[in-house]
Amino acid sequence: MTMTEYFPIIPLGGGTTEIEAFGSLFCRMAIAHSVSVYALTTHLRTWWGHKNPEDASAKKNVTNSMNPMLCGIGPNVATYVNIVTSATGCAELNRTTLLSLSPAICSSGHQLVRKGRAWCPACMDESQKGEHPFYDRLIWAVTAVKRCHAHRIALESSCPHCGHFQAHYHHLGQMLLCYVCKKPLVSPSASWKVMLHPPLYEKECLNLVGDISAGRIFNVAENAYGIFINEFADYLIPMDLKISRHAYRTSRRPQTSREATKPRFSTLLRRCAAFGVEPSAIFLDPVGAAKSACLLEFARLDLPHELKPRKSVHLVQLSSVSLHSRLAENEYDRLPSLVEIARDLGVSKGFLNYHHHDLCTTYARHRTRCRNRKVANQIKCAVAYLHDGLIAQYPSANFPSHDHLVAAVVCEFGIAVRVARIAVGVALRKQLGKRAYERYRKASSLDVTNPVNRSPGSLMSST
Ligand SMILES: [Zn+2]
Ligand SMILES: [Zn+2]
Repeated sequence: MTMTEYFPIIPLGGGTTEIEAFGSLFCRMAIAHSVSVYALTTHLRTWWGHKNPEDASAKKNVTNSMNPMLCGIGPNVATYVNIVTSATGCAELNRTTLLSLSPAICSSGHQLVRKGRAWCPACMDESQKGEHPFYDRLIWAVTAVKRCHAHRIALESSCPHCGHFQAHYHHLGQMLLCYVCKKPLVSPSASWKVMLHPPLYEKECLNLVGDISAGRIFNVAENAYGIFINEFADYLIPMDLKISRHAYRTSRRPQTSREATKPRFSTLLRRCAAFGVEPSAIFLDPVGAAKSACLLEFARLDLPHELKPRKSVHLVQLSSVSLHSRLAENEYDRLPSLVEIARDLGVSKGFLNYHHHDLCTTYARHRTRCRNRKVANQIKCAVAYLHDGLIAQYPSANFPSHDHLVAAVVCEFGIAVRVARIAVGVALRKQLGKRAYERYRKASSLDVTNPVNRSPGSLMSST
């Protein structure tokens, strides 16, 4: 039995940077069911255990979690999001966490989310005065975020009465109460700390949470940062530059290890700032992010204008594979031109010719050969068709001229007019004999009153 019947629960602030944190949603669930957070967890674990007896992942109790807001990238978060998604039927719970980033950042994600709770005292105060319920925001759990960007007030983490750091939620899920002394957490406005200037990386984190909340970040590539670094390094090679020497100062590490290891979130933020790209961009489109980072480098370096960004080595290999695979094809219709192949790969024909000169020549010859074979086949079919009847009647009332025969062939086979004309010529020559055909051709080419007849004659002479 699912809980959807009693309790349709969806994250508050969905689609905006103000989206609820998963732990907060969990507390609201406990309140709605009039049970403690502990009881809800136990109940859900038992329910899950009956449903999936082979799954042992739900052993830990989330009420003991280091980050009560439960919105990091750890296995606990993934397990509970999975269970609650299954119980409530709400498919968007993933967005109340940073789980969608997990493929691309270091799994021991220190410094991604803070330990304990954090909240904006002004937001808390407002919701106590007004009608709207208070909830913990996902953005407040991110360590790099130090203040509420709406109120420009520093986030708080301790009870104003007993001074205890809020490492857990109140046992009944009452987010406005201290989990130790059970008194209200709301503090007098005189004690609020104003932070007028945005702390470092606040904007980046807001954009990232906004993108997660709107469902824009999903299916992040396993090695998104590695792809970015790899692409970026490729662009820098022609300038004889290396990333480590160039964009930021750090101890020398081999390029490959930097590509292979996932960065920590804080490292990612720092490097993104150094490269001038948004962290969101790396998660969404690492190749595109490398391109824009490179453009920024080029602008910064004031390079001679002839120097163009080099296409990636990967693209050179890809184009070789693409040309090679097409050489196996013998059907002309399945052989695109070099220009079309280049367009598919996002390069120019010149790029293909430059990197694979011999292969391009071979391919072009192969394509011509296949085209000739195809035309020869078409002519053969058309000639056979003409000999089956039309030529015997020619010239007749139905087919008074050469062009009427051509039209009939085009209509029958759907081939090009140029090919049809050749076919008609071949068929006539066969029917009339070579000498008689020459005479016929000469007569029709002298017949200036009928210019239509001139073209097949002139065309025949050129072939
Ligand atoms: Zn606020
Ligand atoms: Zn307290």
